[in-house]
Amino acid sequence: MQHTLGRPFRVVGVGLRGGRPAAVEVRPAAVGTGRVFVVDGVAIPATVEHVVDTRLATTLGRAGARVSLVEHLSAALYAGGVDNVEIHVEGGEIPVLDGSARLWSLAIRQAGLVPQGVPQRIVAVREPIEVRRDDAWARFEPADHFELDLTIAFDHPTIGVQRYTGAATGASFYTELAWARTFGFFRDAEPLRALGIALGASLDNTVVYDDLGVMNPAGLRAADEAVRHKALDAVGDAALLGAPIRGRFTAYRAGHALHLALLRRLAEHAA
Ligand SMILES: [Zn+2]
Repeated sequence: MQHTLGRPFRVVGVGLRGGRPAAVEVRPAAVGTGRVFVVDGVAIPATVEHVVDTRLATTLGRAGARVSLVEHLSAALYAGGVDNVEIHVEGGEIPVLDGSARLWSLAIRQAGLVPQGVPQRIVAVREPIEVRRDDAWARFEPADHFELDLTIAFDHPTIGVQRYTGAATGASFYTELAWARTFGFFRDAEPLRALGIALGASLDNTVVYDDLGVMNPAGLRAADEAVRHKALDAVGDAALLGAPIRGRFTAYRAGHALHLALLRRLAEHAA
């Protein structure tokens, strides 16, 4: 069955990209609505065809309106089983909060789910689909449920090679992925600021690595927090298919751009 929220909720914070105040009100929506961002009166469905930028964060756009950093809230909604929802955006960005999806998952749990009496459209992966770029790749294979198998490899003493495998939805999303924070490298901070796209980044919302280790005074929430955040981002990207996926999503050294290329292929196969 399709589900919406039991009641609306509102969250305020700052935007990662612009560093300005950002707020959202997430409201229940009718059957068949899907997950839709509303920016300056323009409805932007949270689907792969509305992705306009994947630098730093996933940005959606339509008819001149844009919303940035949709992936953590999208992941929490997808993993939480929320099919139909309107996300009213103030400030052009989703608040970055602590850089994770923990607060989104909590707010969704508190709002509760309401079944809407109409079956979901489910996309089942029927044959392997793969995209590659240099030594990075991402692949969907048939499976009975949504599963994730993700590997990252960074030439960095604290990160190195990390792998996450799991169900990545429902309770496992909350316990295994939702709390993992955004991460970045101190050497990239100035170039990103020069592009004007990381003005809100700070140690309060980003795990920052220098050449030796972690700069955040309180350290990491888990030794493999980095791959868990990448897995959280991958769930947010998968949410942009606009329907629950039955399939195993495997990726090696991939990012938003490669994930979205794979999802476009899956959308073509499912059409
Ligand atoms: Zn992220």
